[in-house]
Amino acid sequence: MSLIVQKFGGSSVADAERVMNVARIVTDTFAKGNDVVVVVSAQGDTTDDLIEKAQEINPNATRREKDMLLAAGEQISISLLAMAIEKLGYHAVSLLGWQAGFETTSSHTSARIKRVDASRIRRELDKKNIVVVAGFQGLSKYGDITTLGRGGSDTSAVAIAASMHADLCQIYTDVEGVYTADPRKVKNAQKLKEISYDEMLELATLGAQVLNNRSVEMAKKYNIELEVLSSMAKASGTIVKEKTKMEKMLISGVAKDTEVARVSVTGIPNLPGLAFKMFSKLSAKDINVDIILQSIGHDGKKDISFTVAKDRGQETVDCLKDYMENLGAAEVLYDDNVAKISIVGAGMESHAGVATKMFEALYDAQINIQMISTSEIKVSVLIDAVDADKAVSAIHAKFFD
Ligand code: ADP
Ligand code: ASP
Ligand code: MG
Repeated sequence: MSLIVQKFGGSSVADAERVMNVARIVTDTFAKGNDVVVVVSAQGDTTDDLIEKAQEINPNATRREKDMLLAAGEQISISLLAMAIEKLGYHAVSLLGWQAGFETTSSHTSARIKRVDASRIRRELDKKNIVVVAGFQGLSKYGDITTLGRGGSDTSAVAIAASMHADLCQIYTDVEGVYTADPRKVKNAQKLKEISYDEMLELATLGAQVLNNRSVEMAKKYNIELEVLSSMAKASGTIVKEKTKMEKMLISGVAKDTEVARVSVTGIPNLPGLAFKMFSKLSAKDINVDIILQSIGHDGKKDISFTVAKDRGQETVDCLKDYMENLGAAEVLYDDNVAKISIVGAGMESHAGVATKMFEALYDAQINIQMISTSEIKVSVLIDAVDADKAVSAIHAKFFD
């Protein structure tokens, strides 16, 4: 007998028919003699709809209240799925995050899981129940409901798999696995049989939303092998694990992130210490900066540009405008019509010319690059948002066609 964790995303439980479909997958697994813990997300666009409702009433609502509201989406889907399982003649029990033992930090709307006390889940499994757990949520030490940030149900599933030493953690979604690019956007995207944690972590962080990046981080830390597969089609999916048997491909995928903005501070005196001062102001506010570009000094002045998450953009600009005089800077410029396009692949470490190939694809498509950043296994460029899809397709074609 094995312990299997199965996670189903929002589109997999979007309506009654899909909920019944999930119930059949889950009960088939149980009927083969396995213990099954199921993690589900809110149905379809429920989370977006709840955010909109909050927005209508008070755009500046506290994050505690936002969490109280957002966590409601998953409560609907766990109870419906438990009912569907009962209908098929099996025993099920639904549990909210706190009932399932999810202890988190208290940073509302982006809480981190500190621990999963799985004793209640264990007791329910011992009673031969299929346990259905609400993803995306937990409880802070103050006894308040928290959520883990968008896409957080993947992390809930991996956390249960880690704390209960599950034999298998399956992430069911609306595509058949992890592809070389978003299969809904790129025609020739290819399904990967397997991918390493490190490459998947980069792809997820750089915009491939098929897995939440924190779930991959946690899977790597606790060495939980993940299987990403479709809840609608019976086909083998993608295995995410430490070492892959496949020969290293030059790149394993192309990702797009449009949730970024570029900030430029111009006319800063060309003196030591100013970059330090400027970025410490931002880190004091917990604002993460990504690609940084500093111009060569000219006429005693320099410019510094960098990217931040779009939802922290305004705060970043306000903070720097307040500090501009101290820096002696001329202007703070802001542009959120940009996109970050990245290629990821462990094969890059041992092959020259990978970045050049990417730049050539952009040149062929007449797309201008604003900024570039590289690491051992990735190259990212910042471009105009209008060119984003065209760029992904052009780069993908260059490497895979
Ligand atoms: P779920 O609701 O199951 O969590 P998500 O919408 O969060 O599903 O993630 C699945 C979506 O991720 C797919 O529908 C697909 O459009 C998108 N996606 C982006 N990049 C990739 C990729 N490289 N491979 C597979 N899917 C991707
Ligand atoms: N329902 C949450 C969201 O839409 C969590 C998830 O889907 O993973 O972000
Ligand atoms: Mg998701």
